[in-house]
Amino acid sequence: MLFLFLSPLIVKLLRFVFQTIALLNIYRNPQNSSQSADGLRCAVSDVEMQEHYDEFFEEVFTEMEEKYGEVEEMNVCDNLGDHLVGNVYVKFRREEDAEKAVIDLNNRWFNGQPIHAELSPVTDFREACCRQYEMGECTRGGFCNFMHLKPISRELRRELYGRRRKK
Ligand SMILES: [Zn+2]
Repeated sequence: MLFLFLSPLIVKLLRFVFQTIALLNIYRNPQNSSQSADGLRCAVSDVEMQEHYDEFFEEVFTEMEEKYGEVEEMNVCDNLGDHLVGNVYVKFRREEDAEKAVIDLNNRWFNGQPIHAELSPVTDFREACCRQYEMGECTRGGFCNFMHLKPISRELRRELYGRRRKK
């Protein structure tokens, strides 16, 4: 009986401990899609791919901060396995912002696709990511079960994360 009274409160508390949200399958790596589309050699150069990625990253990052609140860290998976492909993880400074973002984002669209957002228990990306990938030597490739966090360019990193250190 007591449990019945408490459970809505527990649910509420549980929901509020998440700082991170996951946007599922939202980033499309142009190198992967051009490869699978025609089966031929990839037509997108590494430089173009990085530019495309930086643009995507900046757009999402800026929108998250403007609409929902300060972002502590954002990461994008470059994996190919179904549960990780194109996932974007946004860690907010405040749990309330993460909560607000998930509710709102599930009613929105990105690039002609409905967004699927959920709260994620990941807070320490160093723990969840693949060390070998960071060193450029993961032999499991895109189907590795650890997160392959795609790095943004140094310039963009400085621009997005650098400005808050001055505050
Ligand atoms: Zn790996």
